[in-house]
Order: sequence, then structure tokens, then C-alpha cells
Amino acid sequence: MNKPDYYDVLGVDRNAESKEIKKAYRKLALKYHPDRNQGDREAEERFKEAAEAYEVLHDQEKRQIYDQFGHEGLQGTGFNGFHGFEDISKSFSDIFDDFFGMGRRRSQSWTTPGRDLRYDLEIEFAEAATGKEMELNIPRLETCETCNGSGASSGTGPQTCPTCQGMGQVYQTRGFFRLSTTCPECGGQGKVIIDPCPDCHGKGRVEKEKTVSLRIPPGVDTGSRLRLRGEGEAGLQGGPRGDLYVVIHVRPHEFFEREGDHIFCRIPISMVDAVLGAEIEVPTLNGDQILVIPKGTQNGRVLRFKGAGFPNLRGKRQGDQVMEIKVLIPTDLTRGQEELLKEFALLEEEKRKKSWMSKAAEKVKEALA
Ligand SMILES: [Zn+2]
Ligand SMILES: [Zn+2]
Repeated sequence: MNKPDYYDVLGVDRNAESKEIKKAYRKLALKYHPDRNQGDREAEERFKEAAEAYEVLHDQEKRQIYDQFGHEGLQGTGFNGFHGFEDISKSFSDIFDDFFGMGRRRSQSWTTPGRDLRYDLEIEFAEAATGKEMELNIPRLETCETCNGSGASSGTGPQTCPTCQGMGQVYQTRGFFRLSTTCPECGGQGKVIIDPCPDCHGKGRVEKEKTVSLRIPPGVDTGSRLRLRGEGEAGLQGGPRGDLYVVIHVRPHEFFEREGDHIFCRIPISMVDAVLGAEIEVPTLNGDQILVIPKGTQNGRVLRFKGAGFPNLRGKRQGDQVMEIKVLIPTDLTRGQEELLKEFALLEEEKRKKSWMSKAAEKVKEALA
């Protein structure tokens, strides 16, 4: 019988890398695996072919012999393809572990760790700066006290499954292959509960609301995650507890904005305060504070309160309060104010002329010199 070309079987190039070969084989093995193609002789044949091609092509030495001398060359080395499922599974334990690993592991361990839980918590802007201690009520699965988590009525534990004798898998021989499938009786656990506990109905856990103490460190921001070890769901059959993750959401502030550890805000001041300078009261996270507006402050100038921002979570220096000055132009002048401003404008005009004239005079002097 003429054997098909190994490269054709896997559908790869003659100079394909071993990664490609492995990938191609995995694809074919999954497609033609007898578990998925029950009773299909053609698929069985394809599966066997792919396995054989992979065995040769992923082995540098065998591949070289095959490339040079073809199928006959390999016969000289004692390689004659496969004769049964045991051969294949022995040769490809790496790949088959990926395929069947889950089932095997399940049948060996009866304990299951509890799941992690997530709790979304909203806090105030100021609380994010000061930190907070509080209590949370968390509904979660707890070990059933009636049966001590075994799932079975008092005095009895889970029993070895009579169908699979605790293996979690049942085997069938079908022609060329010995197939294993998950035991239908115990779902692969290898143990069954003969007399389920009335309180948890054999599950070993019941839902309860638990109070958990939480300490929020100063400096948290939206998206900060706090991990509380062992405060997640209880495990099954003595498995470890999961963790609780508290995800922080900081409520926006009407006046302040946050950027990293800094606090930003806009401070509106009057035109007169901007020109003459002033001291005004400004809110901060620690109460009102006096801000000195220097004489001649321009619109958009940025002033800071050093260290009045958020504490840094990683212990770096504290952020600042950063204030952008907004000079307000009055729009509702009284007649008197308008007159004063016109007078001011006249004085400005004179000042401008004077300075222009003195500059002109200087230019003349320069020209004469
Ligand atoms: Zn079973
Ligand atoms: Zn119970």
C-alpha cells in the first residue's frame, strides 16, 4: 500500500518549522479525534495518519531520514507507524495532555477552590484622600454547617462512584481505539453523594450574607483594586477559599478634578483683585485656605498649594492643589464705575504717549550721536 506524503497529510510546507507542524497536527487531531467522530472509519484513518506524520516530522532525526529516503528510509530505522492507541498516546504525551488533561485532573481531585468575588464600591472624592474604614455586607457561598461541607447527611461522606470505581472516566474499546469519556454517574469527580444533606442539597455550600471589615488606604482612585485574602467563596470539600476584590469608584466632585495625585480647580477673581492683588479664601480638602493673588495677575495664571493634593499610594510625595486663575470682566457697570474707567483710560493714554515720546526722543538722540 502506498503511504501518503507526511507533509501532505499535515498540509504543511516542506520547510515548515516545528511550531507550524505541531499546530497543524493539533488541528487535525482535534478534527478527526474518534470522540468527535464516533464510528467514522474514515476519520479514524485520518487521525492515525496525522499522528504518524507528526511523529516523524516533529523529530529532527526522523524528519531528516524521511526527507532523504522517504518511507522506505524510515523502515530501516525500525519505525513502522502505529499499531494502537497506546502507541499514539505514549508518543504524544505532550499534546495529549493538552487535550485530555482537564478530564484527568478532575478525576483525581475532589476538592475545588472557592471562586474570587468582586465588589464595586463608590466613595466620596474627599474619602479617597483621607482613606476610610468601613464594613461591607457580602452575599457569598459558605461551607454548609449541617454537613460540614461534605454534602452528605451527617456521618457519611462522599462515596467512591460505583460506575467508574473512582476513576472519573469510563473506557470503551472501539476497534482501533480505546476511548475514555467522562463518567456519566459522577460527572468525572470519581465520588458520589449517596444521601444528600437536606440543607445544601448535596452541594456542600449555602449562600449567606457576611460582614467584612475594609480599610481603604488614603490615595485610592477610581479603578484601584483592594484584595481581601480568603474573603471570597468557600472552597468545596476542604478546598481553599477565594479572595474578595473591592474595586473603587470615586464620585466626581463639583469643584475639584483629579489628575494623578494633583487636584485641579479654577479660581474666579475680579479684575480689580487681579490688578491690585488680593488675599482670598479657597476651599481645599482640608478646609478653606488663604490664597495670595499677586499684584498684576494675568488671566490663566497657575498658582499652587504644595502638598494639598492626594497622598501617593506608593509613598511618593503628596500631590498639590493646582489652581488656574480666571479673571472675570465685569458686564454690569454702574454709570459711576464707567466714568471711573473712562478716566482710567485717559490716564493710560497719557502714559502711553509719554512712553512713546520718550522712546522717540531716545531714537533722535541715538541718530544724532
Ligand atoms: Zn463515576
Ligand atoms: Zn449540607
